[in-house]
Amino acid sequence: MTGNGVWIGASYVTGRPVPIHEPYPHICATTVTGRATGRRYRTERRQCAACGAARSAYQPGGIVSDTLTLLAAALDIADQGMPVFMLGRSKRPVANCPDCPKVEDDPAHDPAGCGHLTCHGFYAATRDPDRIAAILDAVPLGLLAIRTGTVAGVAVVDIDPRNGGRIDLDVMPPTRAVRTGSGGWHLYYTHPGGPLAAKVAGLPGVDLKADGGYVVAPPSIHPRTGQPYRWLGDRPTAPMPAALIERCRPADGSVGVSRPSRPSRPVAGQPRDGFFSGTAQAVPPAQNPGAGGISSPPALLAAHLAAVARAPEGTRRTTLYGAARGVARMVAAGAITEPDGYAALYEAGRNAGQTDRDTRAAIRGGFRDESVGTEGIAA
Ligand SMILES: [Zn+2]
Ligand SMILES: [Zn+2]
Repeated sequence: MTGNGVWIGASYVTGRPVPIHEPYPHICATTVTGRATGRRYRTERRQCAACGAARSAYQPGGIVSDTLTLLAAALDIADQGMPVFMLGRSKRPVANCPDCPKVEDDPAHDPAGCGHLTCHGFYAATRDPDRIAAILDAVPLGLLAIRTGTVAGVAVVDIDPRNGGRIDLDVMPPTRAVRTGSGGWHLYYTHPGGPLAAKVAGLPGVDLKADGGYVVAPPSIHPRTGQPYRWLGDRPTAPMPAALIERCRPADGSVGVSRPSRPSRPVAGQPRDGFFSGTAQAVPPAQNPGAGGISSPPALLAAHLAAVARAPEGTRRTTLYGAARGVARMVAAGAITEPDGYAALYEAGRNAGQTDRDTRAAIRGGFRDESVGTEGIAA
């Protein structure tokens, strides 16, 4: 993370504050101890932004985030409950491995369940420190991204001034915010539960990133502009206000009441002083998120369990893990209770010939990687 205008990774390795406007120092071939994990890392050439900038012309400014800076930021974000993954240098998801088809090519392949480190875009997002370190090792010098939605507990308003987007104080109260590398803003709000649309009605240039979405996180560098994404101020994530939720409910009438939108009051240019600092009251997500747009929870659960039952020997544990991730997402969406989901998976795993230990490990792994706790379930 680029705290106080310094590259944290480079400062940590060199032992002096390295301002982000300075040319990035070489940090390759150095052994450091990770602050969050206590683990020793040896920095290699491919993790060194100075090496990366020297051999590549993809960044106009010649600036890239080094892997240690990204790792510190990624662990910090994961620690706050948001799963992270890496995009490629182009700001697009990295390609799947050769074993993983695209979902449109093989609908039977479960992108959430295959468990591969970097396949299927945001499905690879995790809060597990070991997995995060491994992902960064696999995609060095990429862009750090946060999976949004109920799994992260946040919905992010994405404001793009190039398309007319503006911060509208009537519906966007001050909250945790990012200045993007392309000159826009990301405003983080606590996810209110239930389905949300991808567009904020009545506000051009304003998108909403929630379930099925992701946002680039600081201190990633925008590949076109060479500018870093930066946290603005120190506000905690504020609850999503009713006026904003109203503009983000899907138009199919499935949730809430859709009303004609009021004319918005746009704020030109920079928001007023104080928008990004202060102490907004943070509240936990709603406890009744509905079924998260899942049309038939029993059918979806049956499909997950059937996948375990028909998995060929040798793939059953992986399939059970995948099914557990799917069921965990149902739990997160409020479509099934955690004990019921756990019990159904446990029965499916044992019926498929898995040991008690393997069954529990696969289910706990799947729940954990979807950030659904299993603490309340008997061991
Ligand atoms: Zn794969
Ligand atoms: Zn896959």
